[in-house]
Amino acid sequence: KADGRGCHCLFSDEMGVALRRRRRIELGLDQAVRSPDQLTVFYQPLVGPDGHTIRTAEALVRWTLRDGTSVGPGEFIPIAEETGLIWPLGEWVMRRVFAQANRWPQVVIAINLSPVQLRRSSLISLIEALVLEYDVQPARIEFEVTEGVLLENHAVIQDNLDALRAMGFRIALDDFGTGYSSLSYLRKFAFHKVKIDQSFVRGIGVSSESEEIVRAIVSIGRALGLRLVAEGVETREQFEFLRGIQCDEFQGYLFAHPMPHHAFWEHLHGPLDS
Ligand code: C2E
Ligand code: CA
Ligand code: CA
Ligand code: CA
Repeated sequence: KADGRGCHCLFSDEMGVALRRRRRIELGLDQAVRSPDQLTVFYQPLVGPDGHTIRTAEALVRWTLRDGTSVGPGEFIPIAEETGLIWPLGEWVMRRVFAQANRWPQVVIAINLSPVQLRRSSLISLIEALVLEYDVQPARIEFEVTEGVLLENHAVIQDNLDALRAMGFRIALDDFGTGYSSLSYLRKFAFHKVKIDQSFVRGIGVSSESEEIVRAIVSIGRALGLRLVAEGVETREQFEFLRGIQCDEFQGYLFAHPMPHHAFWEHLHGPLDS
């Protein structure tokens, strides 16, 4: 440290700024989950190989602060996970989606479940209670879990996933290819879907290595009888490639951005006043 005084100061300043922002997010989020008028759920359609047909939509939480600025879930979800706020936040998202899902009987809604939620055995009793309260059919809901949870080899996680499946929910493996899970995990957990991470999709047409990884994931998934979803599809070229290797569903800005529920309704049914 003696030889880098300038760096040391700069480093401390940046740390200070980052810590203050983190603290603000923590406090703000604590408020937001208690009176969640700052929270909303957006829906992003997943389309079939024709590029139009929608059978699934992913629920993505949005947070707008009182001052009108917003913080992305990529930033606040990890903080919610560390502080335990993911628990009330996750419950709020499920309530919101369950309350809205019955309006769209033709689509399955995918909800992201954090590993932190999956580690609690009370998750199942909560979801059972919500199913009754909102009269939701589990087959209409898909839970997305990330590969990381599989590595933990946590008995509760396995039990929870089994219980969700037994209740009739579908389970998708999110961000596939970014962790280190082995094929035996894929078999052990019997997922319905595998979502190919957008980092590989981005490499299509750019790096032959990414293209080979995508091909490999698709052939593994196919061999295991899973549906294959590509996320982060932004270009026609990516779509053609993925369709060519028989992916089943496609999600990305090429088709639609995440949108508020009323916009999603119009997206499905056409404008209300036309
Ligand atoms: P994810 O589950 O991998 O969700 C996909 C992310 O990619 C979303 O970001 C979505 O808006 C974005 N995306 C969709 N299409 C495209 C595209 O064509 N290009 C690019 N560059 N991005 C695209 P978002 O909404 O910011 O969410 C970020 C992450 O936050 C999610 O990643 C998920 O891990 C987490 N998250 C979001 N909502 C929830 C939630 O309700 N619960 C939990 N536990 N996590 C959530
Ligand atoms: Ca997801
Ligand atoms: Ca993902
Ligand atoms: Ca992700």
